[in-house]
Amino acid sequence: MDKVHILIEGYAYPKEDGSFVASPTTTLIEADGKKILVDPGTNKEKLLASLKSLKLKPQDIDFIYLTHYHPDHFLNIRLFPDTHIYDGGVFWKGDEEYFHKEFIPGTHIEILPTPGHSPEHTSLLVNTDDGWVCIAQDVFWWEDGKQKSETEADLLELQDPFATDRDAQIASRKLVLEKADWVIPGHGKKFRNPRKVKQLCHQ
Ligand SMILES: [Zn+2]
Repeated sequence: MDKVHILIEGYAYPKEDGSFVASPTTTLIEADGKKILVDPGTNKEKLLASLKSLKLKPQDIDFIYLTHYHPDHFLNIRLFPDTHIYDGGVFWKGDEEYFHKEFIPGTHIEILPTPGHSPEHTSLLVNTDDGWVCIAQDVFWWEDGKQKSETEADLLELQDPFATDRDAQIASRKLVLEKADWVIPGHGKKFRNPRKVKQLCHQ
């Protein structure tokens, strides 16, 4: 089974001067002997401290995976100058580009195309001892304290001021809820898929 460690729980909040503070959820996947860091975010101190708590240094990370190209999700790639990078379709090794789809090569980690927040957005589906964990990032996100509830209706209706295609985003939300037992949002706390909670109650 693969493992998912949440290194930083994503946050986002406005400040009184009109600026904004945000770093996304950053996760470490351990799969097939590889350590894959998903969306290294913006918070350098927290990321290094969190890696250190697992006795890891930036050089111990085998690959970085980027779910989409919003700077709050990737600015910390500066801490990993020699680490090769995947996104939903391409693996970059220096100036070489290798193409893939459906799975991160050499692993069982499924890549779900989840457009809507941005056209290139993808999510990862990981099989763990706790069930299927979807690293869904900005398919679901909210400002700190703004999440209404974890019911399916509220999750589908979450407002996203940055979404480029609202209908595609709702379809992506439904896809994640069809597949996952647990969902990791881009900014906010990991939650159990409400559809799975219902099934548990009916057993
Ligand atoms: Zn984003």
